[in-house]
Amino acid sequence: MKRTRPSAALAAGLLLLASALLSSCGPSQDDFPYPGVVLVTVDTLRADHLGCYGYARATSPRLDALAASAVRFERVVVPTPRTTQSLASLLTGTTPASHQVRRLEHRLLPEHLTVAERFQEAGFMTGAFVSIPYFRKDAQGFEQGFGKDFDFFSGRDARAAELTDRALAWLDEHGGKPFFLWIHYRDPHAPYYRPEPSADFPLPAWVDPAMESFHYWPIDEQGNPRDATRMDEYRELKALHKFGTRRLPEADIERGRALYDAEIAYTDHHVGRLLDGLARLGLENAVVAVTADHGESLGEHDFWFDHGEFLYDDCLRVPLLARVPGAAPAAVHTQVGLIDVGPTLLDLFSLEALPDAQGKSFAAGLFGHLLSARAYVAESGEPLLWGNNPRFARMIAGWRGAPAALERETQSPALRLRAVCSGSRVKVILDPIAAPGGRIEAYRVDGDPGELENAAGDPLLAEEVDRARKVLEVIVEMERRRIAGGPAEGLEVDPETRRILEECGYVGGR
Ligand SMILES: [Zn+2]
Repeated sequence: MKRTRPSAALAAGLLLLASALLSSCGPSQDDFPYPGVVLVTVDTLRADHLGCYGYARATSPRLDALAASAVRFERVVVPTPRTTQSLASLLTGTTPASHQVRRLEHRLLPEHLTVAERFQEAGFMTGAFVSIPYFRKDAQGFEQGFGKDFDFFSGRDARAAELTDRALAWLDEHGGKPFFLWIHYRDPHAPYYRPEPSADFPLPAWVDPAMESFHYWPIDEQGNPRDATRMDEYRELKALHKFGTRRLPEADIERGRALYDAEIAYTDHHVGRLLDGLARLGLENAVVAVTADHGESLGEHDFWFDHGEFLYDDCLRVPLLARVPGAAPAAVHTQVGLIDVGPTLLDLFSLEALPDAQGKSFAAGLFGHLLSARAYVAESGEPLLWGNNPRFARMIAGWRGAPAALERETQSPALRLRAVCSGSRVKVILDPIAAPGGRIEAYRVDGDPGELENAAGDPLLAEEVDRARKVLEVIVEMERRRIAGGPAEGLEVDPETRRILEECGYVGGR
């Protein structure tokens, strides 16, 4: 019998079968340049307390080793130095003015696409292990794109060891397919504890074994106050200490700083275990990005052991290490923003960009190309403890209404501190309530890393400062109009101010 070629119908049927099989299995790692992504965020991790950013204490041997094989971004700014707002920006590539997560308890609404959703649509396995004690899974909206594999530890403050174990188990199960894994460690967030030493993690040399924990008031191992009946007194004490009205005893300051660094070292150890696990699973070619939601003020500008209220670099500047196969180790000095991380990860996998993202891919910078400098706008978080915040009270006393009305007003996003982090020489902060008409601070990015000398009056910087001030005033006015329910458009804006607003993502025309 003569052999015949398969009929066209049979061929079409085979094709259909093949495509059905493919779609039921999803894409394979061979369909992409890298097997997957591990995105690590460390809560409250300021860049300059890591060895690879020049810190003297050995807080970060594993991250330093990662940096040696990665691209290290020297200047990375967050949009808001508070957890929920900043992570919403990381996940969506948009500014808080766009996603409208303006307070810790706000929900990211479903209409805002996340980078996890993009990876999920492309057939990636997606998983998240997120330690944030006040998180309520479905109430926060961050589970978008992660489905059932969004583990928030039932709102517990889970430690790095547990997160790492869970993440490694997930990788063991799903790491054979394209994957997007997000891990949010929280150990460096206050209260700070002395980490438990082990055979492979000795107690850091700078920690006195007598140091158990640091908080504004005495706490037990679960972080509960040792005397719950004194909470009113404790809160007042916290406000006095946090804003520098009453200076903490030197021994407490030393303990706070030592234990903050010890929490970084402890987290670093477990990030190292995660990287070891990746290698053990044969996934060392996965893209690894390590960054943070914000930093921590350890007494700079008389702001003690917290973050959120001010926009100085101790809280606004975070580390960013990106290990991408094919990208040579390097340091990038052009400023980038946390809002750029998601767009970059999608770009590396040639996935469709997030349509509303103001963040832009810096993938070219990973491969040795010069990035063009751009400006970013930051805003402070809600002024927590306002009623107990003597600094705010002092600043605005006597020039506006009654305290209750003031407290309501200061919760408004229109009245928060705002900064323009220009890609060039100067960072400008507008405090709209420090004085009638607002108060401006300006700091040289390169010449004054501690932001100690307000250069707002320097004639050599006058043009840049004035330009930034205009941008910030327009943004405040846009916020006022939005809150009042009126149109944000129609403001008189000169072309240069508009250009910077566009660059920062505040008006269209990207
Ligand atoms: Zn945080």
